[in-house]
Amino acid sequence: MSNLEKTLSIIKPDAVERKLENEIKNCFINSGFVIEKEKKIQLSKEEAEDFYKVHQTKPFYNDLCEYLSSGPIIVMILKKDNAITDNRKLMGATDPKKSEEGTIRKKYGISIDKNSVHGSDSLENAKIEIDFFFKN
Ligand code: UDP
Ligand code: MG
Repeated sequence: MSNLEKTLSIIKPDAVERKLENEIKNCFINSGFVIEKEKKIQLSKEEAEDFYKVHQTKPFYNDLCEYLSSGPIIVMILKKDNAITDNRKLMGATDPKKSEEGTIRKKYGISIDKNSVHGSDSLENAKIEIDFFFKN
């Protein structure tokens, strides 16, 4: 049985700044994802706060929102069977030091905060996050 899903992926400022956009997109494409929609944008601090509001009680929330709004990002809708789980696997653990060999965060992540990519963590959040960036 197929389980075609869409998930929201972001190439974060640290990776865009290091010109890793195409390399990271190739990681997705080589793993069978189709990039259905994409755009390059820069969020305001307020928009980043809205996007990451699930983390508003965390000690790292303010720094996280400063960082996500610090430069251009690439937001993408990725499509594939089991896209949500498979993207999380391909990204690797939040902390690049703890992520497995071959994952995007292991290859490109700098630190637990500058970890190069975001990916939705559930079907429900994928829908919310896709709407956040692509609803018109
Ligand atoms: N983050 C951070 N410090 C932490 C944990 C997370 O700066 O101790 C940042 C990091 O950029 C991470 C984001 O907050 O990607 C969202 O955290 P989450 O736990 O949702 O990790 P993710 O789903 O991105 O793996
Ligand atoms: Mg998360």
